[in-house]
Amino acid sequence: MARLVMKFGGTSVANIERIRNVAAHVRREVEAGYQVAVVVSAMSGKTNELVGWVQESSKIYDPREYDAVVASGEQVTSGLLALVLQEMGIPARSWQGWQVPVLTSDAHGSARIESIDPARLNASFANGEVAVIAGFQGMHAQTGRLTTLGRGGSDTSAVAVAAAIGAERCDIYTDVDGVYTTDPRVVPKARKLDKVSFEEMLEMASLGSKVLQVRSVEIAMLHKVRTFVRSSFDDPADPRPGTLICEEEEIVEQQVVTGIAFSKDEAQITLRRVADKPGVAAAIFGPLADQNINVDMIIQVVSGQTVSGQTGNGEAMTTDMTFTVQAADYERAMALLTKLKPEIAYQAIEGATDVVKISAIGVGMRSHAGVAARAFRALAEKGVNIRAITTSEIKFSVLIDKDYTELAVRTLHSLYGLDKVA
Ligand code: ASP
Ligand code: MG
Repeated sequence: MARLVMKFGGTSVANIERIRNVAAHVRREVEAGYQVAVVVSAMSGKTNELVGWVQESSKIYDPREYDAVVASGEQVTSGLLALVLQEMGIPARSWQGWQVPVLTSDAHGSARIESIDPARLNASFANGEVAVIAGFQGMHAQTGRLTTLGRGGSDTSAVAVAAAIGAERCDIYTDVDGVYTTDPRVVPKARKLDKVSFEEMLEMASLGSKVLQVRSVEIAMLHKVRTFVRSSFDDPADPRPGTLICEEEEIVEQQVVTGIAFSKDEAQITLRRVADKPGVAAAIFGPLADQNINVDMIIQVVSGQTVSGQTGNGEAMTTDMTFTVQAADYERAMALLTKLKPEIAYQAIEGATDVVKISAIGVGMRSHAGVAARAFRALAEKGVNIRAITTSEIKFSVLIDKDYTELAVRTLHSLYGLDKVA
C-alpha cells in the first residue's frame, strides 16, 4: 500500500472544529487507499504561550526543561486528532517523538533529527491505524531526554517521517494555498507557484520566506521527498494540489528568477579604518565564529587613509570592514568587537539594525548573465541605496534601509516578470 504523510500547522488545528476539518482531509486519503501518518503542530499561539511561561519562570533557563515544556503543545494536538479520527470510525493512534522513536542530537531547543526507526509505525499501519505523530519533538538516545527541533520544526518532523517510511509524498497543510513568488501581503501581485525546485525553496526559506523550516527542505532535497505546500482550508472533498517542491528537471517552464525573499532579521556592523594587513579578517571573524555568531554578507573597502590618518608617508593603508549578522546576535557581536578593539586595532565601530536583506532566487541565474546588474540599476532609479551585496550561483542579495522594503521588493518582483497578470 502506498503511504502518505500529511502535516498540519498550528492554524489548521487551532480548535476542535478545525481538528474535525483536518480529520476530514485524513479520511479522504484513507478512503483513497493510503496508509497515512499525520504530523501535527501545536494549536496556534500555544508554543508562544509555553515559551513565555518558561521565560517567566527562569531568566537563564535550563534548555532541557524548556523542551519538556514546549513539546507539550504537540502532545495535546496528537491526542485530540487521534480521538476525533476514532470518533469518525477511523482507527488512529497518537505517537510522541520518543515513542516512534525520533532520535535527535542533544542540542536542546534546536535538535537535529539523527534517525527515525519505522518499525513501530509499520506495525501500526499493519493494524490498519492512522499514525498521528506529535511534530517538533524527539528524544536524545543517550540521555533519554525529550528534545525539540527549533521553531517551525514540525515541518522537519513531517519530511523526516516521510523519508523514513518511504512515503509517496509529504503534504504540508497550512493557512496559505502554496508557495508564492514573494509575500502576498507585501506584493498583492505575487503569484502562486505550481512547482519550485528543492534548491530554490532551500534558498527562499534560508533568506526569509517563512513557509517552511529550512531544515525540512534540506531533508526533502537529500531524500528526494516530493513535498506539497497546500491549504487545509480547501474543501476536504475537493482540495487544490498547492505547490510541489521537486527536482529541477521536473520543472518545464523555468524563469530566470523564481522568487523574491526578504529578511528583516539582519543587522549591519562596520569597523572603520582597520589596518589593511594579512590576518585582519581572521582577527575579526575568528572570535565571532567562536561565539557561534554567523556572519553573512562581508564587504571590505580600502578607506584611503593610513592608520595615523595621513596619506602618502609610506605607512600601511586602512580598510573599512562591513558585514551583517542576525539581529538576535547583534548586541553580542557589538560587545565582543568592542572588547577586542585593542587586538583588532580599528578606529571606530558603527552598527545599524534598521536594515533589510532582499534576495532574488532562481536556478535560471546559472545560465543568464547580468541578472543582478539589472536589479542594481532598477533600485538606483528608485533612489534605493545599496549598503552591501552578495551573490552566489542561484541567488543574489542586497542590504538596504528597512524603510524601502516594500518599494524594493515590488520593484524586483516587476523587473523579473513575476507580477500576476490581472
Ligand atoms: N509548534 C512549534 C512552533 O510553533 C513547531 C511548529 O509549529 O512547527 O514552532
Ligand atoms: Mg510552520
